[in-house]
Amino acid sequence: MPSIISVSNLSKIYGSGFKALNNINLDIERGEIFALLGPNGAGKTTLISIICGIANPSEGRVTVDGHDINRDYRAARSLIGLVPQELHTDAFESVWATVSFSRGLFGKPKNPDHIEKVLKDLSLWEKKDAKIVTLSGGMKRRVMIAKALSHEPQILFLDEPTAGVDVDLRKGMWEVVRTLRASGVTIILTTHYIDEAEEMADRVGVINKGEIILVEDKANLMQKLGQKQLKLHLQGRIDAIPTSLASYNLELSEGGCELTYNYDTKGERTGITSLLGDLRAAGIRFSDLDTVKSSLEDIFVSLVRTP
Ligand code: ATP
Repeated sequence: MPSIISVSNLSKIYGSGFKALNNINLDIERGEIFALLGPNGAGKTTLISIICGIANPSEGRVTVDGHDINRDYRAARSLIGLVPQELHTDAFESVWATVSFSRGLFGKPKNPDHIEKVLKDLSLWEKKDAKIVTLSGGMKRRVMIAKALSHEPQILFLDEPTAGVDVDLRKGMWEVVRTLRASGVTIILTTHYIDEAEEMADRVGVINKGEIILVEDKANLMQKLGQKQLKLHLQGRIDAIPTSLASYNLELSEGGCELTYNYDTKGERTGITSLLGDLRAAGIRFSDLDTVKSSLEDIFVSLVRTP
């Protein structure tokens, strides 16, 4: 099936002359959760704004379900729901009124059944008559999502959906996003919280300095770039690593009581068997061991680290 969003050779130079995006090529698959990761100023919001038709590209092309975002703006835009980073909505309107109004903005006929379903899915039904101003921050965020879903979009952009919200609320948001995906909505989220991408995404894209530096299936990415660490808790303290073990590049820590060995998960041989044999030969005994897997965060940091 063709991608639902196709971005080709996209560049953006702001009026100031700053090149915020440089030749971006990206395809979003139908029904996936795609996490776009990047440090501050990498170009995430610029990219989303162009795909949603809010900003113009300097070069390149974006199609949404085959519709060119410039030439066929209305058709393309009607397929997209956007939840921006900042919460802005009319504080003195009721939840029901504000969400219904958003639908009207897309020229869609009234559909109370759909609005009811959206509010129920987002656990806002009990609050349908409440004024926005009386809601908690988490509820306000869910109202923003309800607004974005009011016109039945096939694609939902979430720009930093859980910035500044507490742990329980974040988990609640993740549930909401999963439910949406299960209902067939394609989701693109930007996040600074890498555990969020690790938890939710099917695929991960990393953008840095206006360039997409990697797009990968999350599981593959973690397997391909992931490192594992073997930590050995020694029976006794050692002052230095014996020269016979130099080739393993071990690290000695915890006052000489712990040895750490980094190994590649994709390597055919981890080297652990020979390490353990060489440790025994060197007279180093350990009381316990454990392994630690690198997180998406470790991978991300190593990808965007400037040399
Ligand atoms: P953050 O994670 O901080 O939200 P981001 O990845 O979303 O960052 P953008 O907001 O897309 O980044 O900004 C990309 C770059 O373009 C930044 O260096 C920013 O200063 C610059 N930029 C954004 N908007 C404009 C503008 N209107 N005029 C000039 N430069 C801009």
